[in-house]
Amino acid sequence: DSETQKLSLFYESGIYYFDDSNAVFIDPVRVLNRSYNSFRVSPSVYYPRFFESSIPNPISNVTSSPTKRKRKRKRIAKEPPSLNDRELIAVQRHQEARPLLLKGHECLLKSTALLEALSTLKNDSGCWQRECQGAQDSFIELRHEAPLLEVMLNLRLDDPDQVPNDLEVSPNVRCCEQIVLPAFNNLVANDTKVEAVAEILDNRYIIPRESCFYMSDLGQLRNLIPAHADSGFNLIMVDPPWENASAYQKSRYPTLPNRYFLSLPIKQLTHTNGALVCLWVTNREKLRSFVEKELFPAWGVSFAANFYWLKVKANGSLISDLDFFHHRPYEVLVLGYSPGKVNSSGNHSSFKTLKDDNVIISIPGDYSRKPPIADLLLDYVPGLKPPRCIELFAREMMGGLVAWGNEPLHFQDSRYFVER
Ligand code: SAM
Repeated sequence: DSETQKLSLFYESGIYYFDDSNAVFIDPVRVLNRSYNSFRVSPSVYYPRFFESSIPNPISNVTSSPTKRKRKRKRIAKEPPSLNDRELIAVQRHQEARPLLLKGHECLLKSTALLEALSTLKNDSGCWQRECQGAQDSFIELRHEAPLLEVMLNLRLDDPDQVPNDLEVSPNVRCCEQIVLPAFNNLVANDTKVEAVAEILDNRYIIPRESCFYMSDLGQLRNLIPAHADSGFNLIMVDPPWENASAYQKSRYPTLPNRYFLSLPIKQLTHTNGALVCLWVTNREKLRSFVEKELFPAWGVSFAANFYWLKVKANGSLISDLDFFHHRPYEVLVLGYSPGKVNSSGNHSSFKTLKDDNVIISIPGDYSRKPPIADLLLDYVPGLKPPRCIELFAREMMGGLVAWGNEPLHFQDSRYFVER
């Protein structure tokens, strides 16, 4: 039946479209794995959270102290007793998004076959041979040695142009071309149709087919501005290191004050035919209004729609109550268009303009790791196919994408992969 068909499509692509709905479920592991042939993103490493059994753990109740219980009760307050103006706007935004979010979640709960599949997404299926080893260094610390550090790129030589994307290359084929390049402030590209292995010091990183990274601080981002706008980007995804009160976040990566993002060269990175710009924001009203009133105008980007990333557990339930004021189970992706320059012949490519809000449902991975959304947006990207795509402040790479940030190899460490 159609449900079975949709499920097998989901197993192939990692994407499940619900009927008559603006909602979609994605398994980031399957989406990412389309960029690899002999390696796989390890599902058990990707999903460190939200797979706990749905039966409450009796031990945690016994050991919870009265203070802990008190704190818990405080945290689940749905709305603060008195709201200031900004909080009122935040509540209003939430109320506007609520029906769409509820409808999306309902779609998931009604898709019984998909729901059953969720609990198995973390399983490493039989074909994996071994977990890769890796010892991760923080790039943010390494950059002090930046001018000295080199990356050795091991590219497969077995005529990559002849290897179709879906063909499994024998892991024994290891004939390589080795290229040594500066690791920082330099565009490192794997132009082949299979993944490459990069080595920096003693660490190994798996580089997706047809992808590049540029590892640098914000100051060097300008080096990615193309000499001619017709080699600019059609899809620009941005996940800035917003300042945040969370001490946990502070220990994970450095953050930047908002004014730094005003000068991101979005206009200069935009392709002649224009670009779809996708910006991850938190639910803080101060930030939402900064984006609408200052950031998008500064970038010359016109607002198109909001996408909501709704986070669920493996049992299909939301990670927190939809109405928790300080801990919403969703994040927002604000989308807009950067116009580019219409050339003299007035040539505009044909693409669907994005007007409607959408819901993307997935089980979250590591802290602040966003689901790979590029494939979901392709219909709305201006310009010729395949579009030229860049991710700013990236921590991982994907086939067909340029990844820029101060740690674009973070999740490419071989310890996040299994080898066939
Ligand atoms: N989208 C990523 C993901 O899904 O894993 C998360 C990106 S995280 C919100 C922001 C990133 O910006 C972090 O990797 C952080 O190290 C990086 N960053 C912070 N300050 C930076 C700077 N001055 N230049 C470049 N990158 C910076």
